[in-house]
Amino acid sequence: MHRLEIAVCGAGTTGLAAAAFLARAGHRVRVLERFERPRPLGAGLLLQPTGLAVLAQLGIDREAIGAGARIERLTGETAGGHRVMAMAYADLAPHYFGVGIHRASLFSLLHDAAAAAGAEIVPDAAVAVSATVSGGRTVGDLRGRTHGPFDLVVDATGMRSPLRDGTVARARVRPFRYGAVWRAVRLPADWPHRSDLRQRYESARIMIGVLPIGRLEAQGEGLAALFWSLGPGEHAAWSRDIPGWRESVARLWPAVAPMLAEVESAADMAYASYDDVVVPVPIAERYVVLGDAAHCTSPQLGQGANLGLLDATLLAAALDTSDGDLAGALESYAAIRRRHVRFYQTASRWLTPFFQSDSRLAGWARDLALPIAGRIPYVRRQMVETLCGIKTGPFSRLDPGRWEPRYALAEPVRARQPA
Ligand SMILES: Cc1cc2nc3c(=O)[nH]c(=O)nc-3n(C[C@H](O)[C@H](O)[C@H](O)COP(=O)(O)OP(=O)(O)OC[C@H]3O[C@@H](n4cnc5c(N)ncnc54)[C@H](O)[C@@H]3O)c2cc1C
Repeated sequence: MHRLEIAVCGAGTTGLAAAAFLARAGHRVRVLERFERPRPLGAGLLLQPTGLAVLAQLGIDREAIGAGARIERLTGETAGGHRVMAMAYADLAPHYFGVGIHRASLFSLLHDAAAAAGAEIVPDAAVAVSATVSGGRTVGDLRGRTHGPFDLVVDATGMRSPLRDGTVARARVRPFRYGAVWRAVRLPADWPHRSDLRQRYESARIMIGVLPIGRLEAQGEGLAALFWSLGPGEHAAWSRDIPGWRESVARLWPAVAPMLAEVESAADMAYASYDDVVVPVPIAERYVVLGDAAHCTSPQLGQGANLGLLDATLLAAALDTSDGDLAGALESYAAIRRRHVRFYQTASRWLTPFFQSDSRLAGWARDLALPIAGRIPYVRRQMVETLCGIKTGPFSRLDPGRWEPRYALAEPVRARQPA
């Protein structure tokens, strides 16, 4: 496609990755970000083989693996020590693994990739509206400025997108009832599970998660992202009794208690709630919505950032192969993403109540069914494929040739001269 003028709204994981791919493809890209200094929010996340394959296309997989912690398995157990879940990436193939990474590390890799590719990052530009004008689309921000017109506006402003609802048809947003508090903490030197995402449950009401996320500096300390589920309306009560909460953690999982040494008040933990965002057709005239803005879901399956990274590379690929037909490129982007996104949204929606809900029955059923399921080789394989981010339906998966996790071997997408 000829060189397009593109606005990417939002400098999160999805927006920065999209900016990097689109600028490398030769388009003129302006990233509009609401913060004065673009920055990552929250602690850490788990990059799946899919997300790592996308980073490999940008040539930043080695850095991500080096900055983060290589994760080999996901283990879940009850507070009484009953093993509920033990899934290893290597159950699929020996070279599969995930990477726990601090959000700041991922942010800085993607930010540098976007800037190096020539994307212009415009801070302090909180977009609020978007409109089509003759031959283009503009974006207005909260300071009353109009940006553009652009050939294409990419909305990557996250789950509460201010542009989406007035632009695409039939978007549906429903909050999940549970949220979480989370923080990056020091990983004690004697923590034995350095390659595991470990979770501990009490019924479905309580879930603690510990995900090693590597280091922020080469010589820095090893860190972990610590998560604690909060039920509906519990945040205020939790904030008022941090000592009581620390006692609960110590009772449920004594080895985790030392990690809370730095948590003195509620302000030391970030609170996150999440919506189930469904956008059946993520495109409109000169507009496409990506990442959480298009398909936010609960973090139970650890896929959100990975889905956003795939959106980014596949949008750039659709534009690249469209022969100058922008509307056709957006149609083919929407078609190519449909099944993968729908599978993970549906799976997260169905699974979340077994890990975050008030239902005693759900917790009991999980503790009974998952160990049995894990012993059936076919079911176990489906579970690990789901974890890896590669499924597109109950019996289908992404093209293994394309998303095979040969992270450190993949050929990066090279910058191209503008046409
Ligand atoms: C507790 C928790 C744990 C998670 N764990 C994982 C995990 O292990 N693995 C995983 O893959 N995912 C995980 N996720 C999900 C993941 O964080 C999201 O899916 C991912 O961050 C989405 O990226 P995004 O760029 O689409 O949106 P965001 O990260 O929300 O970025 C949106 C960007 O847009 C900017 N913005 C917002 N409004 C405006 C505006 N009006 N104008 C301009 N800019 C604006 C924001 O400042 C931000 O920079 C987790 C989420 C939570 C809450």
